[in-house]
Amino acid sequence: MPKIHFDDDKMHEECGVFGVWNCADASAVVALGLHALQHRGQEATGIVSFDGNRFHSHRGLGLVGENFSDARVIARLPGTRSIGHNRYATTGETVLRNVQPLYADFEFGGFAVAHNGNLTNANTLHKALVRRGCLFQSTTDSEVFIHLIAISLYSTVLDRLIDALKQVVGAYSLIALSDQALMGVRDPLGVRPLILGRITSADGSPAWVLSSETCALDIVGAEFVRDVDPGEIVVIDDRGVHSIKPFGREKPRFCVFEYIYFARPDSIVEGMPVYAARKRIGAELALESPVEADVVVPVPDSGVPSAMGYAAQSGIPFELGIIRNHYVGRTFIEPTDSIRHLGVKLKHSANKPILEGKRVILVDDSIVRGTTSKKIVEMVRAAGAAEVHMRISSPPTTHSCFYGIDTPERSKLLAAQHNVAEMAELIGVDSLAFISIDGLYRALNHEGRNGDQPQYCDACMTGEYPIALTDLAEIQSRQLSLLAERS
Ligand code: SF4
Repeated sequence: MPKIHFDDDKMHEECGVFGVWNCADASAVVALGLHALQHRGQEATGIVSFDGNRFHSHRGLGLVGENFSDARVIARLPGTRSIGHNRYATTGETVLRNVQPLYADFEFGGFAVAHNGNLTNANTLHKALVRRGCLFQSTTDSEVFIHLIAISLYSTVLDRLIDALKQVVGAYSLIALSDQALMGVRDPLGVRPLILGRITSADGSPAWVLSSETCALDIVGAEFVRDVDPGEIVVIDDRGVHSIKPFGREKPRFCVFEYIYFARPDSIVEGMPVYAARKRIGAELALESPVEADVVVPVPDSGVPSAMGYAAQSGIPFELGIIRNHYVGRTFIEPTDSIRHLGVKLKHSANKPILEGKRVILVDDSIVRGTTSKKIVEMVRAAGAAEVHMRISSPPTTHSCFYGIDTPERSKLLAAQHNVAEMAELIGVDSLAFISIDGLYRALNHEGRNGDQPQYCDACMTGEYPIALTDLAEIQSRQLSLLAERS
């Protein structure tokens, strides 16, 4: 059945991972954690638990609530150790065999892995592994870890994992569960996030949590302990938490888009509250690109904190001139061709009394293809706005991301094809401005982008990719087929 896709004009979040060790009702706790991380992936979800003797798993397409709200499903995932994954596919089709955590039985016992990010040499490794006789069950690059661990000549699980990690290139955070330990890993540049938390039980014994974001800690009654460091492996077992750093030291390059859009605003990432960071970005945007207007209106939801920052800095009133319908998912079944044109209106509606006759500053987080921006501007004008000025809280998205974020190919990115004046005309606004890359860095408490020593990954805005794109052609082709699958 044809569907209307709403969010096809956004960079899509990658995936979310969550795991617990030494926790009563571990799988119920993981389901709650995954629920809090639902914004990081809505296509599929899964949990693998260990009960001291056996591993148990449940994986399914759809949302966490659709898969894990039935107590009978959770009851089939017993044990005090459990890991889970929310998937928004960046490689591999959206089919059950690609849903994580992936699980395999090795000579040393069972092993489950859940991975967030993208391996940029997965195709090269895949070919080499197939030549050695490895039989792949899925088309996701995460399965490469399973086979590299299987063929490793080291004896312990940890040594095999390190051996595998030393062969992969990419941006990733992963969590893994063996019968001996829960493990969490961040890539050497720390592009993707991972944090450690702790739940203190009634008897005082700690349960440990690994999560993509801090926003998942509250819901399970956990406290934040620390970020897992770039290039660090955290091993949690019956003796406690151990840290291993098997890679050489590299300058971290955390994904700057986590602050702009991906992370939930109530998360604290790399020590910085996302909500406050977005407000500062909005304030910096107001300093850089002021315009006379009557109201500052966010494109909900992600544009809200930066619009608040813009309004506070400019002194122009903040108003909810666009209302979002929270009860529509990512898609809506399109019953007839005649409502095709409704598209964006099913998700956003204009708050006419706020917009009528006003000079409006619309604040959004990014422009990818520009298709949704154009429709929103049309809607605001149709509601009677006298002028529409658009301000964007990220620099122009000129390049695709190959580090686990779903972006269209470069030729479809509006900013890769047009300058700002042309984009303004295409979107239909009276003026358009993006925050500068230096302004973005300043808003994140830095002195601006430090030349060839940037503090973040900002490749989608600068084209400077910090991690080798070994299998670029294959990554591009897989991203294209995923986009075709979703359109
Ligand atoms: S390219 Fe952009 S979206 Fe991708 S990791 Fe780097 S900053 Fe994040």
